[in-house]
Amino acid sequence: MLLVEDDRMIAQAIELALKDASYAVDCVSDGRAAEVSVRAQQYGLVLLDLGLPHLDGFEVLRNIRDSEVPTPVVIITARDALEDRIRGLDAGADDYVIKPFEMGELLARNARRASP
Ligand SMILES: [Mg+2]
Repeated sequence: MLLVEDDRMIAQAIELALKDASYAVDCVSDGRAAEVSVRAQQYGLVLLDLGLPHLDGFEVLRNIRDSEVPTPVVIITARDALEDRIRGLDAGADDYVIKPFEMGELLARNARRASP
C-alpha cells in the first residue's frame, strides 16, 4: 500500500495503524514522489491526501488515470465539500474518505483491494 500524506503526524499515525494491521506500507509526502512511486511499483491501494506540495492530490490522480495506471486510489482528506467529493470521484478515485476517519472503517471499505 502507498500512503501519500504531507502532514507528518497524520502520516505516522496512519502508517502505524496499517502496520499494526499487518499491511506493508510505503510513505511519500508530496505529489511528485507519489506519481513516481505509483508508476514504479504496483500497489494494491493508494491512500491519497489532496493538499500536497508540488502537485496536489487531484493532479496526481488525474495524471495517473490519464496514463491508465489502474491502481485503486482512496482519497483521504479533510475537504468535505460535495464539489470536492464529486471532483475526486470523477477524477478516478475509488473512494473518498473524510478526515478524521476510523482506520477500521477505511480498511473494511477496502479489504478486497488492500491485501496485506
Ligand atoms: Mg495535506
